[in-house]
Amino acid sequence: MSLMITEECVNCDACVPECPNEAITQGDSIYVINAERCTECVPVNEQQQCVVICPANCCVPDPNHQETREQLEAKYKSLNLG
Ligand code: SF4
Repeated sequence: MSLMITEECVNCDACVPECPNEAITQGDSIYVINAERCTECVPVNEQQQCVVICPANCCVPDPNHQETREQLEAKYKSLNLG
């Protein structure tokens, strides 16, 4: 399942450099997570790095993007991040 950013986002930019998948960008009004790139930090980190860093606690699971660990690992490989 990819994560999503809720309206509580304060546009602080803290999460962008933390994401190992380069999945977070600034949107029109708040930051957004690209579900095609977010792997819940699988397999790089135990904890989701945006969740750890976010001061507004607004990075949450996106119920519209449910995926198994195998699917997340396959997605990570397809990103070719090395
Ligand atoms: Fe990036 Fe990990 Fe947050 Fe997904 S959970 S947006 S991969 S930092």
